[in-house]
Amino acid sequence: MGALNTFPLSYKVQGQRIVIVGGGEEALNKARLAVKTTAQVVIIATQVEADFSGHDVTLVERAFRPSDLDGAALVFVADHGADAEAAIAAARTRNIPLNVVDVPAECDFYTPSIVERAPLTIAISSEGDAPVLARLIRARIEAMLSPRLGAIARLAGSLRERVAATLGKAEARRFYEELVTSPTIERAVEAGQGSSAAAALLDAHAQTAGKGVVWLIGAGPGSEDLLTLRAQRLLQEADVIVHDQLVPQVVVDMGRRDAERIPVGKAKGNHTFSQAQINTLIVRLAGQGKKVARLKSGDPMIFGRAGEEVAALRKAGLDYVIVPGVTAALAAAADTATPVTLRKVSSGFVMATAHGADDGDLHHWAALAASGMTVALYMGKSNAAEVARSFIKHAASVHLPVGIVANAGRAERSLYRGTLGELAAGAADFADGPAIIFVGEAVAHGDWADAASVAIEEYKVA
Ligand code: SAH
Repeated sequence: MGALNTFPLSYKVQGQRIVIVGGGEEALNKARLAVKTTAQVVIIATQVEADFSGHDVTLVERAFRPSDLDGAALVFVADHGADAEAAIAAARTRNIPLNVVDVPAECDFYTPSIVERAPLTIAISSEGDAPVLARLIRARIEAMLSPRLGAIARLAGSLRERVAATLGKAEARRFYEELVTSPTIERAVEAGQGSSAAAALLDAHAQTAGKGVVWLIGAGPGSEDLLTLRAQRLLQEADVIVHDQLVPQVVVDMGRRDAERIPVGKAKGNHTFSQAQINTLIVRLAGQGKKVARLKSGDPMIFGRAGEEVAALRKAGLDYVIVPGVTAALAAAADTATPVTLRKVSSGFVMATAHGADDGDLHHWAALAASGMTVALYMGKSNAAEVARSFIKHAASVHLPVGIVANAGRAERSLYRGTLGELAAGAADFADGPAIIFVGEAVAHGDWADAASVAIEEYKVA
């Protein structure tokens, strides 16, 4: 058994009358709602107190008569005297749905809070139990939706036949999704050029219809709200989602429900798919005409092997699009309020890999860190102490600040703060999960108040 005492529906009032009995503020409130429809709104009141001017209503200043309800689709009683009694009785006799303001027990229906983008309507109802909550949610949705959405919805309606004639079902869905979310369309509608912009979009879709594409999408550091709106939209459009191990399930789950999902488990030390196999896989899927979301953690262009995947797609003559994401180092900077560039302290920011770096690389980065640049090391947690020792060997000071963020951008992040010397001592026991190591003076300007210390013993330079 269900839990609702009311059934939400959209009730036809076109060509009929909505009768409001009462002339005060409450009547005006109902009138405001009623005039959003094409029904004729009639106010019946012996005394009109509120200001109805500017609203398209018919004012009848006299006592209520039952014949006032002829042709009425709905009746609101926003009055308390004899008129109210008479109107309630008349509505009951004629079986016309009735709303008595502030008397839930007498109501056949309630008026939900509505967000109106005609023809689109969003109604929020609490069955009269929590009108404040309903209004709050209404305000949020109101802020979320473009004021042009109604015009865009009409545009979508006007194109239905052409879309059906030009595009297949899946392609039509993609077209409509883009039509209603694209900022370009919104701007065009604003400028009164919605029809031509929509027609151009339809042409573009007709041209790429049936053609495969790979979207290399940055998923950010692992919280779903650090995904870009573009990433979210494409995940909704994808036929297949090919994702790395580092992309958390919550993000993968944001994809279209019936999209196929292929984990290609590129976690460190666990290569279920080789890079060559991944390249072959995405080329094959796109070659079959599928829309492939290749979902990578952080930003796809940073230590994401995107270069190799793009090269394979290019060679196969397939289309691809790259969608940037929040890279781990910048999530770590945000978590710790570390300004990775800072006037007079750090004139630049380097993202480097600690894994597989040779002595020459490390020498170079040590010099950059020593010169004041902020170095962010990726893939360095397992050999952090070794890397720190190399930095020191290459003349970086043992006092150079070090900050480590494991699980940056996620709820379960952990912070460590110390110096290059302390990190070189290698005593820190880091939390599970991927980590970014910052080396540089800028670290001292961040907020590492919650950080554990990286080491328990001092490192002695050999
Ligand atoms: N393309 C990704 C990086 C992939 S390489 C990006 O732009 O972020 C994998 C390395 O990224 C890990 O070894 C770790 O150093 C880093 N990393 C990825 N996610 C992380 C996170 N949430 N917190 C800290 N480091 C992370």
